[in-house]
Amino acid sequence: MALLQIAEPGQSTAPHEHRLAVGIDLGTTHSLVATVRSGMPEVLRDAAGRYLLPSVVRYLPSGGIEIGEAAKRAASQDPQNTIASFKRFMGRGSDAIAQLAGQSPYVLEAGEGMLRLRTVAGPKSPVEISAEILRRLRQQAEEALGGPLQGAVITVPAYFDDAQRQATKDAARLAGMEVLRLLAEPTAAALAYGLDKKAEGLFAIYDLGGGTFDLSLLRLQKGVFEVLATAGDTALGGDDMDRAIAERILADFAHCAGDDPAWLRQVLQQARLLKEELSVVSQASITLQLPNGERRQWSLDREELEQWLEPIIRRTLAPCRRVLRDSGISKEMIDGIVLVGGATRVPLLRRMVAEFFGQEPLTDLDPDQVVALGAAIQADMLVGNQKDELLLMDVLPLSLGLETMGGLMEKIIPRNTPIPVAKAQEFTTFKDGQTAMSIHVLQGERDRVEDNRSLARFSLRGIPPMVAGAARIRVTFQVDADGLLSVSAVETSTGVRAEVQVKPSYGLSDEVISQMLKESLEHGQEDVAHRRLAEARVEAERVREALDAALAADQQLLSAAELAAIHAARNHLLQALAGDSADALYSAVEQVEKAAAVLVERRMNQAVRSVMAGHSIDEWSNK
Ligand code: ADP
Ligand code: MG
Repeated sequence: MALLQIAEPGQSTAPHEHRLAVGIDLGTTHSLVATVRSGMPEVLRDAAGRYLLPSVVRYLPSGGIEIGEAAKRAASQDPQNTIASFKRFMGRGSDAIAQLAGQSPYVLEAGEGMLRLRTVAGPKSPVEISAEILRRLRQQAEEALGGPLQGAVITVPAYFDDAQRQATKDAARLAGMEVLRLLAEPTAAALAYGLDKKAEGLFAIYDLGGGTFDLSLLRLQKGVFEVLATAGDTALGGDDMDRAIAERILADFAHCAGDDPAWLRQVLQQARLLKEELSVVSQASITLQLPNGERRQWSLDREELEQWLEPIIRRTLAPCRRVLRDSGISKEMIDGIVLVGGATRVPLLRRMVAEFFGQEPLTDLDPDQVVALGAAIQADMLVGNQKDELLLMDVLPLSLGLETMGGLMEKIIPRNTPIPVAKAQEFTTFKDGQTAMSIHVLQGERDRVEDNRSLARFSLRGIPPMVAGAARIRVTFQVDADGLLSVSAVETSTGVRAEVQVKPSYGLSDEVISQMLKESLEHGQEDVAHRRLAEARVEAERVREALDAALAADQQLLSAAELAAIHAARNHLLQALAGDSADALYSAVEQVEKAAAVLVERRMNQAVRSVMAGHSIDEWSNK
């Protein structure tokens, strides 16, 4: 791109320098990282082969930390120190504590500019917690790609305000990552589907995750992607489906189980498994352990489940209608619907979305991966690995403005303005001899100041004394491609310039960030090794337990030779568990998984046969 390529005469061109860049979907429930290799976007996996990292961080009293799967498993024993769904807290200030408290098990406290969560390891800001996830993904990517990353594109919900975007960027800095661009999630999804290659059109991105629903309308015109409008529900997602199932289970066992917290958690977890399985098969069952120790089976078929899910899915249609109405676009004008988010795997959802929009949604890509794949494509463009660059344009999600007389907000840049953008407006003094003016920057759609988000306050001083109304104060708002704002103010009438650059009142100061970076570098290496070993142990233990349970139940499915091979791999795993090498643990896990593959397959076949018994083939092919 910007590099000059020099080819010696008689020699082929020097090999193209490929720069390592990734796309990261920093999700509420799961996070993942993807890259473009040999021209194709793909997700990157960890040593155990997984690509979905649960967005969960657990702080230990020892000062250690657990991330992802290991942390998620501990959530029930140690809820206060195991932080999940922290994306909801990103960029929120201390003033939001009252509103957010009670919605989560965490103790929230005021911090410098932003709220913090109390843990055994001290108060942690959502930025620091996110940085742990990003650091893990960076490490995973660098291991998979074999070198340091040049940078990353990180996705954010289209409606994220300035503070939430700034917080995301701060988290990346803290994780030692260069942010190439913050990209709206729906735009990333559209990119993954290669919609940029189509000429022009309108696309709806329907994203139902664990706890949030977003619907965005994108317009693609002359190679420019514009997010036209977004709507959603920040308290609607797959978790609601889990709860709907859990309620039935709890009702069925109400007479013998009560409301013991461990029992409730078990039921929720199992409900989720049932839900996910019923997206694939039409009947499934779970085994529950009652508080009195008794084990009981509970089964459910898809038809019944769909009756419970229908009202939940229907709730997603209201924002769909709203977006269409607000943007004056009819369903027939939409050229494609993209499904994003794990919960869109539910077959009923696909049918209801198809019916609502009057067309089949696009489902070729894994809905869990779409956003990360699109971000990877954008990252690849931004570091110059691709020849034709696509100009991507997002819009400002919420209006930006200033407080004016009477406690009202005056909008300077209205929402849905394509970014980057700069706009200036003139104000004047209202008192004779006034030499200072205080400026209050706001974001939101409401008229009254207190109903909007306060982004920053600053004063412009040194205005030459003159009569009221004579000064000309020009306030300039500048929003960059990441959606981040800077504001400056200048008194222009006398040629005397006074200018102030605002640093938003939320977020971390540069000093705080560099202090945190220093600390993380000091503890970095040992942390990484320690963490990797701890995770490997947990993984190995999990595999050993799963294997033992499978052997206990279905050993008879194996030949003597197969059984012997599995036992050899198991012994190897036990040896690795006694040692302290993460590599040895992972390789032992891999061996066990290889040896046990035959057992897994036969158990699966057996399960499918038992599920299918009593169903006709026709019934299956209709699913
Ligand atoms: P987020 O964007 O919030 O990080 P995800 O896109 O990872 O969320 O979606 C997580 C949700 O998707 C969870 O509620 C999970 O149970 C649900 N999910 C995953 N797979 C399936 C499936 N096969 N059927 C139904 N729901 C699923
Ligand atoms: Mg998501």
